[in-house]
Amino acid sequence: MDVYGLIGNPVGHSLSPPMHEAGYEGVDLDARYVTFEPPADGAVAAIEGADALGVAGLNVTIPFKQDALSAVDPDPLAERIGAVNTVDFTGDGDRPAGYNTDAVGAVRALRSHDVALSGTAVVVGAGGAGRAVAFGLADEGMTVRIANRTESKAHDLAAEVPDATGHGLAELDDLLADADVLVNATSVGMEEAATPVPADAIHAGLGVLDAVYRPLETRLLRDADAAGATTVDGAWMLLYQGVEAFERWTGRDAPVEAMNEALRAEL
Ligand code: NAP
Repeated sequence: MDVYGLIGNPVGHSLSPPMHEAGYEGVDLDARYVTFEPPADGAVAAIEGADALGVAGLNVTIPFKQDALSAVDPDPLAERIGAVNTVDFTGDGDRPAGYNTDAVGAVRALRSHDVALSGTAVVVGAGGAGRAVAFGLADEGMTVRIANRTESKAHDLAAEVPDATGHGLAELDDLLADADVLVNATSVGMEEAATPVPADAIHAGLGVLDAVYRPLETRLLRDADAAGATTVDGAWMLLYQGVEAFERWTGRDAPVEAMNEALRAEL
């Protein structure tokens, strides 16, 4: 039996175990997915310990995504983002391989809804999710505009992302006028009535991804739907970061529908 898992603190409400175990069942793989909650400074020890125990793969979540970098051999995208959320122990390198599948998760979530990844993307948020999404969309060839409450963080991130610019939230109206894609990568929206984007700034031509998945239907997505835009909820991003990890670990195509069903059953 193969063992996969997640390190995070806290991990109590993680949706990953049912999603991944539905994936193993879907391809008839004898495997389990378990959660671990090391202390806040325990990322490196946890990854080394998992390696020693023969764990096949680990997901990494808050607060360990940055510290995990120093325990792995990161791929170029994870290195540029500065954070790892997937560790693969099955290779034969000195260190396990490290990836950031949040970036690919956002890209695949948008693609799965036929959102064309060309033109301009507005990414709201410059924290961990904002970093991953900005690099992911820039790698697809999009021009990325990053807007953040703390504007200086948007400028700092934009300086690292190719062809990107940084802005304050007050500029969202102007930025969105000729944008093709909008991603909310802030935590705003977890409270039912809150949205980081004025409703009248959203137009029908936009593809809108909200990284927030609790609740699934955020005010931003309701406003986007009312404006005629294509909407993609945060569970799609969560699904595809998991699908990407599953495929890296097992070398098999993930049973996406089964994983999606298991994930949505928890939400
Ligand atoms: P983070 O690193 O703490 O960043 C939080 C971001 O939200 C920052 O840009 C922050 O702006 C902004 N923000 C917080 N409160 C705000 C407010 N009241 N008004 C305006 N902006 C505000 O968190 P994260 O890890 O990036 O996560 C952000 C969200 O994405 C969370 O809801 C998380 O659950 C979600 N997420 C989803 C997925 C998925 O797969 N669907 C993956 C990762 C994260 P400042 O810089 O000004 O503080």
